[in-house]
Amino acid sequence: DANNRRNVTKGSFDKLVINEHPNPLRHPSERAKFGEVFTDHMLEYDWTNETGWSSGTIKPFGPLQIHPAAKVLHYAIETFDGFKAYRGDDGKVRIFRLKDHLERFLKDAKRVLLPEFCVDALAKAITKLVELDKSWVPSGDLSALYIRPAMIATDPRIDIIPPNAAKLFVIMTPEPAEFLTHHKEIKCLYADAQYVRAFPGGVGAYKLGANYAPALYVTKKANELGCEEVLWIHGAKQDITEIGTQNFFAIFASKEPGKVELATPPASSGLILAGMVRDTVLKLARDFDDVIVHEKYIDMEIIHATSDAGVLLGAFGTGTALMMTPIRGIKFRDIDGNLEDIAIPHDSSEKGLFNRLKKALLDVQYGRNANHSEWITLV
Ligand code: PMP
Repeated sequence: DANNRRNVTKGSFDKLVINEHPNPLRHPSERAKFGEVFTDHMLEYDWTNETGWSSGTIKPFGPLQIHPAAKVLHYAIETFDGFKAYRGDDGKVRIFRLKDHLERFLKDAKRVLLPEFCVDALAKAITKLVELDKSWVPSGDLSALYIRPAMIATDPRIDIIPPNAAKLFVIMTPEPAEFLTHHKEIKCLYADAQYVRAFPGGVGAYKLGANYAPALYVTKKANELGCEEVLWIHGAKQDITEIGTQNFFAIFASKEPGKVELATPPASSGLILAGMVRDTVLKLARDFDDVIVHEKYIDMEIIHATSDAGVLLGAFGTGTALMMTPIRGIKFRDIDGNLEDIAIPHDSSEKGLFNRLKKALLDVQYGRNANHSEWITLV
């Protein structure tokens, strides 16, 4: 029942068993390809409503066994998250905003009635997992180890009722710097008034697998028109909500001399995923004296008007996978099907706001700025 589900102390989630790989690879550089090659170990927990959580097990990476009737396979009862461990200039490995990501993971699990868990215990177990596979964390700016926790409903029955069994697992894949340098900028985002990703009262604010499958169809349309990603818009005014898997930021000239404005849509709308890089960039930007920070809607008309007037100075996306990516154009298809291209400027100089924010972000992640120790878990 609901009470059991909330009883996170039931079972032995706080215990961790380690079965080390007898023959670990430990040499990622030869084979590493982001998202396709995984580290030597994974972490796994099982839950049932009757027994609560099993202990965590760190074990050699390998396939899962799953019953063909498992609910996740039919009704997409699944949530996931994604964050990274960075190897700093000092050789130390830092996990970025680990607990904040796991709090989000917990919130998302609750939305699809997957079981609650202890964030502190999971944070400890993940730290241990990263420690065990530390040799897989690449060095150098822009490279990282991507950490993917996921939870799935596993009970072997296809009736549509809240899950009574679940599996939580964590896998990791190295991301060499080349992955990010290949995605240096977004040449074109496709905004199509025919499609929405999320709507008020829906689940756009949650990282559910179910949000991603239907988006691929629209992304394919974007690709066919020469755009890399979708710019999701919503409502009669065509408010920008977010990008495929990134949050959206715009930079505007300010009426106040010597200042610029940084704006991003409000996370409180429920229409966007409250990105951790989004939150980090907002906090870093608020420390800059010459930046006025707004969380407000930016609609397509504002993009038009400010780009015509030279007031739009730039736009970029933020997300764990690509960090920060300049956006150089939008292809907009209005509700009548008319297509239009909008060019977006980009200040690529070091004094430009984009590069100042990116430097501030990387300095924290790679251990060059110790002022934000609350965001860092040292491995
Ligand atoms: N929006 C969506 C839809 C996403 O999937 C992601 C990636 N998690 C983001 C935004 C960016 O979030 P974060 O900064 O936490 O990676």
